[in-house]
Amino acid sequence: MMLDLRTIYVVSAMTCLVLGSVHLAAHWTGRFGRWPAWWGVSNLLIGIGSLCVSLRGFVPSFVSLDAGNVVTIAGYLMTFLSVRVFADRPVDRRHCMLAIACISLPVLFFTVDPGTVSGRILYVSGVCCLCDLAILREAVGIRRREKLFSAGLFAWLYALTAAIFLVRSLLAASGQIDGPGAFGDNPAHGWMAATAVVFLALRSVLIVLMAAERSRNELVDLAHRDPLTGALNRSGLAQRWPSERQSSPALLAVDIDNFKQLNDQHGHVVGDDMLRLFASVAQAMLRSGDLLSRQGGDEFLVVLKDVSETEAVQAAEAIRLAFSAAVAQVPGLAVLPTLSIGVATSGGTDADFEQLLRKADEALYASKRRGRNRVEASSGREQAA
Ligand code: GH3
Ligand code: MG
Repeated sequence: MMLDLRTIYVVSAMTCLVLGSVHLAAHWTGRFGRWPAWWGVSNLLIGIGSLCVSLRGFVPSFVSLDAGNVVTIAGYLMTFLSVRVFADRPVDRRHCMLAIACISLPVLFFTVDPGTVSGRILYVSGVCCLCDLAILREAVGIRRREKLFSAGLFAWLYALTAAIFLVRSLLAASGQIDGPGAFGDNPAHGWMAATAVVFLALRSVLIVLMAAERSRNELVDLAHRDPLTGALNRSGLAQRWPSERQSSPALLAVDIDNFKQLNDQHGHVVGDDMLRLFASVAQAMLRSGDLLSRQGGDEFLVVLKDVSETEAVQAAEAIRLAFSAAVAQVPGLAVLPTLSIGVATSGGTDADFEQLLRKADEALYASKRRGRNRVEASSGREQAA
């Protein structure tokens, strides 16, 4: 079946213009960051470019083909930049504008007689194909870094459209699309253009889906973290514990010694700094997969994966010494806080959190009783200061 290419270009233009306007309106509300502005402008440019091309035969060719192709390419390149902005990757505006001009303007070197139109389609499709591949790469990066399911769908979509542009380039290179008529007479060209319209709309849906998934993840993360120290809070730890319990974990109950005295003598701001200092010292000593959570006040829990009691006691001792060394670097402190740590291990069995916490707490109180600034294991092993 032969599809009317001019109608498809008009539909494509209207789709992009409406989507672009919606994204720009979303940007102006100030609630969605910078990417909708870039995405909106790219949609508007592709829309204007498609509109110009749809007028081929009614307006001079420097408007329909020259301006149409230049603006379409600029729009495609802007799409790539929008995805980089979405991914929070650096975008140098001046270099980008220069690159857009350098890549889109050469299309003007193709004269408009029917014999060279295929060359022009080859150039435009080639640029769009490369652009889609670059976006595919960015999407894979977002999927990997942020674990967004929708970024995977976005990547697949761009793989498909890159393939479509590749086929279009090959057809143009072999002279099978575009002929003496205004829009050629190859049915494949019409079907590819119709598919492209569907994909243009789908791209905008998917990037909004990615933004929604990202903000959901950020909200869940915020709900599971202590805002002062960035450590997990109780519900954050409770949510992650099920994946820890199979790995014979060790639980370290940590309490800062003389913290009240520090607050009283230096004020709560210094106290807050000390809580942050502990969190950053402890976090720096943990392996990936280990967890740090703030239980409240000056009490923290550390979960160490796959460790024996000896290794857990050594890790606790290393944290205690590193914190003391960091505190010694803080100028002007009259009270030098230290750490008391209780260690409990599951002994290779499936660990029950409440039971481990009770054992770690008892060990912590034993270390407080025995003079503070020390590590005590629930089995009775101790490591004095
Ligand atoms: P010990 O050696 O027995 O642990 O005594 P301590 O002085 O550390 O006393 P304790 O652990 O009972 O006191 C915790 C103090 O932490 C009491 C509270 O005022 C203070 N605190 C709780 N939350 C915060 C906070 O977010 N910031 C600051 N600066 N202080 C806090
Ligand atoms: Mg304390």
